[in-house]
Amino acid sequence: RSRRRWWRVVRALDEFEEAASTPVGRLRQVVDAMAVEMHAGLASEGGSKLKMLLTFVDNLPDGSESGIYYALHVGGTNFRILRIQLGGQRSILGHDVERKPIPQHLLTRTSEEFFDFIALSLKEFVERKGNNLQPSQVRGKDLGFTFSFPVKQTSVSSGTLIKWTKGFAIDDMVEKDVVECLQKALSRRGLDMNVAALVNDSVGTLAVGHFYDKDTVAAVVIGTDTNACYLERADAIIKCQGLLTTSGGMVINMEWGNFWSSHLPRTSYDIDLDAESQNPNDQGFEKMISGMYLGDIVRRVICNMSLASDIFGPFSSKLSTRFVLSTPLMAAMHEDDSPDLSEVAKILEETLDIYDVPLKVRKLVVKICDVVTRRAARLAAAGIVGILKKIGRDGTGGITSGRIKGVRSGKLRRTVVAVEGGLYTSYAIFKEYLNEAVAEILGEEIAPYVILKVMEDGSGIGAAMLAASNSARS
Ligand code: ADP
Repeated sequence: RSRRRWWRVVRALDEFEEAASTPVGRLRQVVDAMAVEMHAGLASEGGSKLKMLLTFVDNLPDGSESGIYYALHVGGTNFRILRIQLGGQRSILGHDVERKPIPQHLLTRTSEEFFDFIALSLKEFVERKGNNLQPSQVRGKDLGFTFSFPVKQTSVSSGTLIKWTKGFAIDDMVEKDVVECLQKALSRRGLDMNVAALVNDSVGTLAVGHFYDKDTVAAVVIGTDTNACYLERADAIIKCQGLLTTSGGMVINMEWGNFWSSHLPRTSYDIDLDAESQNPNDQGFEKMISGMYLGDIVRRVICNMSLASDIFGPFSSKLSTRFVLSTPLMAAMHEDDSPDLSEVAKILEETLDIYDVPLKVRKLVVKICDVVTRRAARLAAAGIVGILKKIGRDGTGGITSGRIKGVRSGKLRRTVVAVEGGLYTSYAIFKEYLNEAVAEILGEEIAPYVILKVMEDGSGIGAAMLAASNSARS
């Protein structure tokens, strides 16, 4: 009897693997869908699930910048302040960072209180890191501001908050210009600094990539959440005709977490995860890819198997608790290389209250992690190649007027994509699968021209670099 149950579980795993499979043919369909949706999102407001937001960044740092620049990064319950000293010739002479938790009660107070706290923290940082530098000595210093919430930008250094996410609820901020709020708070604290750039974190990553390497054309962040941005030709931004930029291009913030296509290999677990989420029908791509969700997909598969059989012993109620299995724990099981998979056993015990499972069941758990991570990494890879296709860097000649041209362009150019985020930088198998899939989709002729480069903490430094390249003085 227990043997029959085991086979039931094996069949469930096979079905899951099949539903979540990403053969290269399917990935190519995702690539095409991404390029087409990008085009639609650029054609008209609301033309696609991809928002394709204008960033007004047309002046990416190129390494020639010099001087001292500051940056603030507000995006979660911690915020970061940093200062960099640029020395031209792509050099960073100094780099100081400070992380600080935002007191919980400020998340629901007034914008004035919130920004006062930020401004005061910046002032203290300036004084401390500058060897008792007086606030007057930073007069006119440029500041980059990374604000990871949905913002409608109106210029490179202004934008209004569309809505709060991630537990923030400072109601009087909504629809206000976030830079103006910050700038006022700085004045109240006697800090005469200039907010030169308001940026989304993926744009910061692109900026650092471009600072070091001018062939960097796109950036992808794959951490708790996921997003991407890239450099687009101004004349391809149809929804904003007559857009003038000094460089003829502009960085587009794709908000790619919301991408959707019927070609995505969706399983019943994804459907349930979405239905039970706080934002059903939203962020569909993100729910298959990002660190916030991968562990929970694995938990759902184990839960289902435990309900269908007794291979995990008596049903543990932990299995019904959303998000108990975090992605780093799932990765630790996946990467367990001990012969008896003792790490898997330990995590099953400590996190899921599942005890004494035999080795073959531990192996099954590793396999589930593998299926989930492999799909995520390969879909992210398809998304990246989709961007390259849109801008004609995938070797097929790109996409014009909504029509995909099959002609191979004569000249192949070196193309760099900057990548940031804990999932890519800390989860080795994820990174390997992603890199492998990019090469597989592109084929061996094109793949050597496309390079993915890790940008550690790119978003923070990037904002300071963008402050430099958009400085009023330059
Ligand atoms: P952010 O929360 O701003 O996205 P990071 O880019 O550092 O910050 O990403 C953190 C996320 O990356 C975590 O929420 C987790 O999902 C994932 N992550 C971090 N470390 C690991 C790891 N060792 N294995 C798998 N995923 C990880």
